[in-house]
Formats: sequence, structure tokens, C-alpha cells
Amino acid sequence: MRIVVLAGGIGGARFLLGVRAVARETGADVTAVINVGDDVTLHGLRICPDLDSVMYTLGGGADPERGWGRVGETWTVKDELAAYGAEPTWFGLGDKDIATHLVRTRMLEAGYPLSAVTEALCDRWQPGVRMLPASDDRVETHAVVEVDGATRAIHFQEWWIRYRAGIPTQRFVFVGAETAKPAAGVLDAIAAADVVLVAPSNPVVSIAPILAVPAVREAVATGPAPVAGFSPIIGSAPVRGMADKCLEVMGVECSPAGVGGLLGARSAGGVLDAWLVDESDAGAQVPGLTVRAVPLWMTDEAATATMVRDALATVGVA
Ligand code: GDP
Ligand code: CA
Repeated sequence: MRIVVLAGGIGGARFLLGVRAVARETGADVTAVINVGDDVTLHGLRICPDLDSVMYTLGGGADPERGWGRVGETWTVKDELAAYGAEPTWFGLGDKDIATHLVRTRMLEAGYPLSAVTEALCDRWQPGVRMLPASDDRVETHAVVEVDGATRAIHFQEWWIRYRAGIPTQRFVFVGAETAKPAAGVLDAIAAADVVLVAPSNPVVSIAPILAVPAVREAVATGPAPVAGFSPIIGSAPVRGMADKCLEVMGVECSPAGVGGLLGARSAGGVLDAWLVDESDAGAQVPGLTVRAVPLWMTDEAATATMVRDALATVGVA
């Protein structure tokens, strides 16, 4: 069995732990297509937060409490940059993490595509799944906001971390997406997949930028494999993070049905066949989708693996 997963960072990484557990039982092969919309250049370093969250988590090097970055991290460089007054100061750059960004930046500057850089970094971390960036091209999520009476576009990281998603926001733009091509291997993986899983990642700023690459969306929407998605919303709130604020910008109700409708049924121009919602949301309906209610709390790897098995059974590939 071949499984393709579309995923963002922290939620995506936790989900992939469960997918990997199922793959180890069944001998399945897993390709994770990861969001690059959060990627940003700071202090001359190319930073790929979602790729790193997945790589560190699957490689056993993530900080379980913070959810992002390295366990046992130190912050000497960040403090030194602050002492120079070097902007921005709002981004958490740990010393160990910086080594990753140094290696990545150097390889990108030498001309390697991000997918090749990711593969090289994964030589160390051995995540146990194939990790591909959605695109080797620049696809960057920006928020169009009002600051000090003026309308301007700021990088998603600035919106999320510096402003805590708390300023008047008109919309999100995925800069570069229209002309971006899928990274090498992405289309082949989707075409050869027996099933495509959409992780319970942020639908607006993790899943949407992946699908904003036109050929990726086309491949998922029209490909041979059934597509099952998982709701990141339980009840009327995200399990973690600020997806509610992102959905508000989109004018989409913060509910499993709202997010399911945003991703939409393949039969109606969307990307899903099946939509898994939490057992407490049984009764939720989305036009055109098979909705299944099962426990969706990723409390540990075993619980997450059960979610994955439920999805495979729902689309008839287990
Ligand atoms: P980010 O890129 O680091 O923001 O992470 P993702 O976009 O991959 O995932 C964030 C989403 O994961 C949030 O919207 C959360 O609601 C969702 N999430 C986190 N933990 C859980 C969980 O245990 N169950 C479900 N269903 N969703 C979760
Ligand atoms: Ca992210």
C-alpha cells in the first residue's frame, strides 16, 4: 500500500507518527507532502518551520512541550542578536535549530532544490517516511492586514507570531503559488498512491498553500486514489493553535462541517471523498462527503494510528 499525506507542521507531525506506526505494521510506504507556505528568510537563514517540525518529530529530536524546535535547545544566538538590536526579535531561533538552517541555506545557495536539501537533512534524522516539500519554488503565505491605518501584506510568520493573529486581516495570499510547480516526486507519489490522507492540519495556512500549487491540487482532485481528511476542529474550536482566527478571515465557520466544506467534495470541485470528524461531532454533514465520526484526539501514537486505520477503512483500502 502507498500512502500520501498532505501535512503542515506540528499537527501534521503528530499525525504522521500515527501514519508511520500503521505503515510499520502493514509494510506500507509513506510520502509526506509538506507545506512550505510558512517558510521565511530571517538573519540570512532560510527557515522551513513545517518541514523541520515534521523532521524533528519523526526523527525523535523535537521538543515535546513546546511542540516546535529541538529538545534541549539553548538560545545563545537569539540573545546575542537581541543585544545587537537585530530585527526581527519575535522569532524563536534556537542554537541547535540554527545549525539546520545553516546547512539548508548553504545548500540552497549552492543551487540544490529544497527537496534535495530536505532529503540531505533527513539522512541524519531518518524520519521513516519520505518527506517532500509541496514545491521547490517559493510559495509564501502573506496576510493582507491593516497596521497603523495602512493596508499592507506581511509574512504569515509575522502575522502569527508577532501579532498573534490579532490584527484586522482582509485575506491571505500565497505568493508565488500560481506559477509554482510541485517538487520532484510529488506528482508521481500522488499518481501512484492507494490513498491520500489530509492531516488534521490548519486548513487555511497549512493545507490550502499545498493545494494552491495548481498541479498538486489537480493531482489530488482528479487522481485515482481516494482522499480522506481529518478535522483539526473538534466542537467549535481548534484542538491547538489559532486555526479559528484563520477561518474567521476566510469567513468559514469554525466547525468540522465548516472545514469539511472548505476542502470540499471531489465530486463538487473539492479534494475530499471522506471526512473524519470527532465522535463528539457525530451528525456533522458535508455535501458530497462520506462523514465518519471517530475519536480524533491524537493523545499518543496508538490513538493516532487508530484514526489512520479508521480512515483507510472508510475509503475501503484497509
Ligand atoms: P502548524 O503548521 O505547526 O500550525 O501545524 P499544523 O497546521 O500541521 O496543525 C495545526 C492543527 O492541528 C491545529 O489546527 C489543531 O487544531 C490541529 N490538531 C492538533 N492536535 C490535534 C489533535 O489531537 N486532534 C485533531 N483532530 N487536531 C489536532
Ligand atoms: Ca505551519
